[in-house]
Amino acid sequence: MERNDSIKAIKGVGDKACEMYAKLDIYTVEDLLNHFPRDYDHIKPIRPIYELKEGDIAAVEGRLVARPKVKKAGRLNLLTIQLEDGGPKTIDITWFNMPFLKNTLHMGTSYIFRGQVKVFRERLVMEQPKIYTKTEFYNISGKLKPIYGLTKGLTNNAVTKAVGLALDGIETPKEYLPAEIRKKYDLSGYASSLKGIHFPKDRQTLIESRKRLVFDELLLYLLSLKLIKSGAKPESRYVISPHPDVEKWLAGLPFELTKAQKKAYDDIVSDMETPFVMSRLLQGDVGSGKTVVALAALLQVVKNGYQGAVMVPTEVLARQHFKNFTDLTEDLNIVLLTGSMTAKQKKEAKEQISSGECDIVVGTQAVLQDDVSFARLALVVTDEQHRFGVRQRETFAGKGEKPHILAMSATPIPRTLALILYGDMDLSVIDEKPANRLPVKNALVNTQYRPNAYKFIEKRVADGEQVYIICPMIDESEESELENVTIYSEKLRSSLPEGIRIDSLTGKMSAKEKDEIMEKFSAGQTDILVSTTVIEVGIDVANATTIIIENAERFGLATLHQLRGRVGRGDKQSYCIFMMGTESKKAKERLQILERSNDGFLVSQEDLKLRGQGDLFGTIQSGEKIFLLADIYEDSKILSQASEVAKSIDETELRIMLDKHPRLREKMRYYMGEITL
Ligand code: ADP
Ligand code: MG
Repeated sequence: MERNDSIKAIKGVGDKACEMYAKLDIYTVEDLLNHFPRDYDHIKPIRPIYELKEGDIAAVEGRLVARPKVKKAGRLNLLTIQLEDGGPKTIDITWFNMPFLKNTLHMGTSYIFRGQVKVFRERLVMEQPKIYTKTEFYNISGKLKPIYGLTKGLTNNAVTKAVGLALDGIETPKEYLPAEIRKKYDLSGYASSLKGIHFPKDRQTLIESRKRLVFDELLLYLLSLKLIKSGAKPESRYVISPHPDVEKWLAGLPFELTKAQKKAYDDIVSDMETPFVMSRLLQGDVGSGKTVVALAALLQVVKNGYQGAVMVPTEVLARQHFKNFTDLTEDLNIVLLTGSMTAKQKKEAKEQISSGECDIVVGTQAVLQDDVSFARLALVVTDEQHRFGVRQRETFAGKGEKPHILAMSATPIPRTLALILYGDMDLSVIDEKPANRLPVKNALVNTQYRPNAYKFIEKRVADGEQVYIICPMIDESEESELENVTIYSEKLRSSLPEGIRIDSLTGKMSAKEKDEIMEKFSAGQTDILVSTTVIEVGIDVANATTIIIENAERFGLATLHQLRGRVGRGDKQSYCIFMMGTESKKAKERLQILERSNDGFLVSQEDLKLRGQGDLFGTIQSGEKIFLLADIYEDSKILSQASEVAKSIDETELRIMLDKHPRLREKMRYYMGEITL
């Protein structure tokens, strides 16, 4: 049997079945093999009767205590037996319209039944279970039975059988991935994974098989993407050779880079060393330390005699980065450019930028203005890329002559995914936090808890730590139950002992005011900062250990996760208190996702699930599902591994691979359409 034979080549699949399979878009043996189970039935070992509960799907083993009874139940014929397994309880087992069983089931003999447990008149009941002999059951026990997507007329058994025959009938598929790649990424063989996804021996096999097939899917997709873009990679005028000063600078930092940070940095350095333009997305959860990686990259560029620029979405963040960069480096001319600067300040900044005096620009979108021109811009960095559009990033890059591009983002939101999946960017992921971090402790509470929360922050402040309190709105006209910053601050002041220094920050303040307030807070001159979400992105004050978020139900999970990311940035234990202003069960469920997990990837996944997947591929794929198995959220790590591999395979190698394994060509055509390979 060949993989591209019609499914009629499979024994037992006739014309009629073919019609039904066609409804599932299954025509060839290959199609059938790619019809992966949508779920699995895990056959768990036999359980004692007494511990069974309503709804369990379980296997029980026991002896018949009484002769089988047959009675009429309406038009049905009901056969009931009673089973005991030596424990304190018995279970009634019933079958409809199978009176003949009466003669096969014998008193005193031991049987195994498997089915769903119900409770009826306080008795345990199992309806229509399957009957197994000991040998039969021990053969399947512990295994996962595939459950396939079906269509009317096609049973799960029939599909299972056909898949089994197809797997046995085809020649063992050849491996196409080199052994070293499989070893590096811990990937099982293709042939065994194909078997393993249909008929997994156990859960581990299933996980490993799925991983391999997901990897294949993503790799072939990315290779397709690569072919589509091939030849398009622009040459760079800025070949940056790694400068020893930067290594020295890194060694002189008060901390050591994490492994993930080093890896990301190495990716960037080796990108910029090639004669091609870098286009890289640096992804890492809040607090994973992206800024310092970007700064190291900028230093490389400067040491090579060029300019670099960073664009951030808020003034507050621009000033923070500016200060941070200035503090961390020596002898550099770092220039700030934001919309709120005076005309004179801006003019001066622009002059330095265009004359080439300036080494690094840190700015808001003000850097995109027409009259900003660079002398020799070799690297642009967009921080919090998800706040910008792709176009803004491109405009930014347009400020130079094809400079290298580094985009940074903390949330795996659709745009970022689009960048990975459809875009032109390579990906580096910082998937660990600095080692000294303790996970943030979360509490989800209602407003009755507020007095306790205040006591708690009083203690934190007494210990010399700082606190953020987030209020949703500033506008007085907002609904009355909404706490607004001004009123809130007053109330807070009267509930806390004198001497605690409280300040407030809102988006409506002038940039100068905001700046002063943030300065004071980061210098430790304020204990509690009451703020709107203006501090959402990027703000980094390590001594702030506690954040209270009022009316947490008003915010999206992604925003809440970002807000929470303002604490847990140093080595002290941090706390996040989500204060709920509602009794809504739904709101609570949603917030519990955050209470349970500090992992941004997980949170955004759950967030998307709650919001429905509808908008995920909305514009790009118009609802079509591109991957059979891969889930770009769940499998984001495999995605980046596959992208590494895709990159390591050059076009000649790829062509050789495709000639040797025609099935890959077929699969890629699925992603690329009719493109000549
Ligand atoms: P984000 O990824 O959210 O932008 P930042 O770059 O602001 O995170 O880093 C958060 C904090 O962690 C900063 O104060 C930074 O100085 C610090 N930091 C970064 N890398 C490390 C490290 N390897 N070890 C300890 N602290 C680090
Ligand atoms: Mg940041």
